[in-house]
Amino acid sequence: METMHVETLVVGPLGCNCSIVADLESKRAIVVDPGGDLEAIEARLRALAVTVDAIVHTHTHVDHVGCTAELQRATGASASIHEGDRFLYDLLPVQAALIGTAVPQSAEMDGALVDGRTLRAGGLEMAILHTPGHTPGSCSFLVSRGGQTRLFAGDTLFRGSIGRTDLWGGDHEAILRSIRSKLLVLPDDALVVTGHGASTTIGEERAHNPFLRLR
Ligand SMILES: [Zn+2]
Ligand SMILES: [Zn+2]
Repeated sequence: METMHVETLVVGPLGCNCSIVADLESKRAIVVDPGGDLEAIEARLRALAVTVDAIVHTHTHVDHVGCTAELQRATGASASIHEGDRFLYDLLPVQAALIGTAVPQSAEMDGALVDGRTLRAGGLEMAILHTPGHTPGSCSFLVSRGGQTRLFAGDTLFRGSIGRTDLWGGDHEAILRSIRSKLLVLPDDALVVTGHGASTTIGEERAHNPFLRLR
């Protein structure tokens, strides 16, 4: 029986894609990138009647962590980043000033996102892939159920584009290496939820993404 449920909300001032990944049987969930609009996220969690076990972040830009503290307080869930992005969490006031948004409240952010580790919530298993480049601690998250693979790529891979690498700690060669070695090895039909804008598939990006042409 298919009990995995994924839904994506567009939240916050820069339209960050926030995803709720839920196991409807055990009623446990993981929230990816709660960048803002706490009430909207909480309303969906209530409608699904799920308990949040973990809040995870594809990276630590301000538009992806905007309401982490409030959601953590409301749910008691762990909140995690990759240690490589710890300096960006300390830079949140500078980041907020840059886009003219309020400085997020402080969450208890642990560094539990480690390459190769798996997060569990009820029957859900979410694999962590460290995919540096957009930021040093950028991660992608992979869930597979019933033959369907779904990737949460954050700002590493977009439909027809890749993440910018001109902000703190960005590295153009590293993002290309991450995408080629960790993401393009996934099946063609793997669905990709990006950090902003439309979803895509690995096959689509392998075939048509102009930034990923083999040289
Ligand atoms: Zn970003
Ligand atoms: Zn973003």
